[in-house]
Amino acid sequence: MRIRFWGTRGSLAKPGPATVRYGGNTSCVEVRGADSTLIVLDCGTGAHDLGQSLQAPGGHSRSGHLLITHTHWDHIQGFPFFAPLFASGNVWDVYAPEGVGQRLEATLAGQMEYSYFPVTLGQLVATIRYHGLVEGVFGLGQVRVTTRYLNHPGLTLGYRLEAGGATVVYATDHEPHSRHHGETGGTGGRAAQPVSVHAEDQRHVEFLAGADLVIHDAQYTLAEYPAKMSWGHTPAELAVDFARAAGARRLALFHHDPLRDDDAMDRLVETCRRRGGGTLDVFGAAEGMVMDVGPGGAAPRVTGPSEAPAAGGRGAAEAAATILLVDDDRDIVDLLVSTLQPEGFALLTACDGEEALRIARAQRPDLILLDLNMPRLDGLGVCRALRGDPDPRLREVPVVLITASTDSSATVAGFAAGATDFVTKPFKPTHIRSRVHTWLLRTLRESAGSP
Ligand SMILES: [Zn+2]
Ligand SMILES: [Zn+2]
Repeated sequence: MRIRFWGTRGSLAKPGPATVRYGGNTSCVEVRGADSTLIVLDCGTGAHDLGQSLQAPGGHSRSGHLLITHTHWDHIQGFPFFAPLFASGNVWDVYAPEGVGQRLEATLAGQMEYSYFPVTLGQLVATIRYHGLVEGVFGLGQVRVTTRYLNHPGLTLGYRLEAGGATVVYATDHEPHSRHHGETGGTGGRAAQPVSVHAEDQRHVEFLAGADLVIHDAQYTLAEYPAKMSWGHTPAELAVDFARAAGARRLALFHHDPLRDDDAMDRLVETCRRRGGGTLDVFGAAEGMVMDVGPGGAAPRVTGPSEAPAAGGRGAAEAAATILLVDDDRDIVDLLVSTLQPEGFALLTACDGEEALRIARAQRPDLILLDLNMPRLDGLGVCRALRGDPDPRLREVPVVLITASTDSSATVAGFAAGATDFVTKPFKPTHIRSRVHTWLLRTLRESAGSP
């Protein structure tokens, strides 16, 4: 696969003399398969130059697949300026995660409404087909694509691309689930320490496993991170730890903070190279950079095109989901209710563990958000009781433990008791909302796939 970086900046385009080397345009990466399948990862402002190059005389194919991680501005602002969409005869398949409520096409049309932009989505003359995605595997030409939800205050997918024995993983706008990396991360040339006690972080490492190139969110430094927790991004040093734990060959630091100028980027890359030891090749993704990613020894995998894992009609089912909110702190319950009610969920509340179990057995909710520390029966006790319940639905129901405890042993105890996920306070309401959608979409997909 041939990779070209057209936009590497996070959050906000930042052109100027201080960012000329790493680039000022927001997320956009071109991927070409050996069979010339064209895949574009995100459509930030970098898509403008990509579009110009595609439409230039003698250019390659002008049709392709656009994989959008999520619809935050910095990932879609280039869409109305992407020249191939303005040329008839071109065909573009646009993919993005689809949750409850707004569909992808409506979201993209939103930034092209009259108040914001002079051309509407309907006036684009290329053929555009929209595909709402959930987690799964599908084929684009000879490229096998695996999708996985990331941890971000907005439903976001990472993309793992495999072709001809080579693997590229694009995982941007993702925050580690655990708060304990700073204590355990390796430094210098020492062997990588265990990345995390959090099951979702371990699954993230599996998503990156053995990649020849990982393009990863690296917006912050570890020193900046305490002030940026729950903003949905990774400190660069932890991106290194994840890539090392995954046995990846190369790591492209990506989604650079708008405040990080070229000299500061150089220093961060140097820090990360040292942390990568001798086994991981770390570099800062820079606009205009082109690289061929070949196989790292794995046998070529033959995959034919297949159906994308579309969200299909699950939106309505997800909206009708019942969620049990459990916390002895009324303010937290109120916050969760005001966060989730506009999404159309049916909400149940309980203020202690015993009441939570009673309601769970009677109402059989689709998802439980559960405080860890409560009087009488705490969150761990509720988890264990649910996992031992005769009702298979309660044994399987996703349980998200929520706690202010920053002790890593609490995380370990939570997963040991049967928790599905573990969220540490303080959190942003948008963060909770995207975790809720993630678990409901996963659960509905599993139940749809089972007999
Ligand atoms: Zn972003
Ligand atoms: Zn984002």
